[in-house]
Amino acid sequence: MGRSCSAQVRRRPREEMQRSARRWVVKVGSSLLMNREGGLHHERMADLLGQILLLHAQGIQIILVSSGAVGIGEKRLGWDQRPVDLASRQAAASVGQAALMHSYEQILQEISGAGSPALHCGQVLLTHEELCNRSRYLNVRSTLGTLLDHGVLPIVNENDAISYRPIQLGDNDTLAALVSNLWDADLMVLLTDQEGFYDADPRENPDARLLSEVMAGDPRMEAMAGSGGSAVGTGGMLAKVRAAARATRSGTSTVIASGHRKGVLLQLAAGEPAGTFLHARFQPLAARKRWLSDHLRVKGTLHIDSGAEIALLEQGASLLRVGVVGQEGNFRRGDLVSCQGPKGEEIARGLVNLDAEVLQRCRGKRSEELDGDPGCLEGTVIHRDNLVLTPKPLSEPGKGTPEEKPFLGRPQEDW
Ligand code: GLU
Repeated sequence: MGRSCSAQVRRRPREEMQRSARRWVVKVGSSLLMNREGGLHHERMADLLGQILLLHAQGIQIILVSSGAVGIGEKRLGWDQRPVDLASRQAAASVGQAALMHSYEQILQEISGAGSPALHCGQVLLTHEELCNRSRYLNVRSTLGTLLDHGVLPIVNENDAISYRPIQLGDNDTLAALVSNLWDADLMVLLTDQEGFYDADPRENPDARLLSEVMAGDPRMEAMAGSGGSAVGTGGMLAKVRAAARATRSGTSTVIASGHRKGVLLQLAAGEPAGTFLHARFQPLAARKRWLSDHLRVKGTLHIDSGAEIALLEQGASLLRVGVVGQEGNFRRGDLVSCQGPKGEEIARGLVNLDAEVLQRCRGKRSEELDGDPGCLEGTVIHRDNLVLTPKPLSEPGKGTPEEKPFLGRPQEDW
């Protein structure tokens, strides 16, 4: 049964893709932004912003996703241990976010060239709430676009001062992928404290090899990534690999590269093979479908029969009441739900037209069986326009199509 959300793309060489990318999302993590004493690493920030200024001059638009708020806030408040309770973390973020933005703006003014207009930065703080509500989502996109049109550098972070579990995005690698999809970025650059993606943890295995090119979303990468993170950030390699897979929904390719490497962004713009390039695997999804697939949480699950599965996967049809055989969750009309096929795997997600209790009464039934129940007039449970198919995972090693097989690109030395 065919299930890709859109056609596979022919891979272009990474060099060509890096050189032609005009819309970049660059993510910088706390471990790069903070110095050994736990304060902000001003030289590194100045180096990063200096490169961004030069890329601007080349006509490249950049959105910066910056961590650091919580770590800097802790330092300012004199805490030498990371707080475990949410309220303290939120307080640290509130203090640290102000300090972070102040430093970015100050450094930008210091390094902007004499005679050329100063580059300003603008703060955009997000939670899952902004991204899962369609009108707020479009509003965020318009704010980012307006900042860029005015030559401002948007700096995005999670709104950690008010974020809590139900609206939390979790880590800034995911946030960078969501911003890439929202803005149709060509390239997402995840700067980290390692040279790129290795086939094993280089801190534990001296034979680990740096990979130059891989296919985003390959399941082998998750196994290789493990869960290693740094003491100050939340992401780690696994979050980066998952973020790269997520960003492919807008056709965005990803580079994982070292923020310690001098001039790394300029090297990437010149097409040089710094770090690991993760190729986007699909043509971009349509904007509305991309928004749907970027919801991080669902409110319920619908179990559908094999007829409905075929209708969704092969006929581009809507999900009808008669095809729903089971359900979980207390969802309301308009909420996002997951659709699982008879084998229990998710095949699609979509915005449901009926409250859970109404669907409970009428699912699986034909109109003549409903006895005129007024709540059950809606026969379409999820309209096709509000439904997105879940991408089929890349095949396990040895089972892939010829297009998917050459995943484990060349190690860096063979470039
Ligand atoms: N938003 C967090 C901060 O600014 C960091 C999250 C992350 O590092 O992924 O501290």
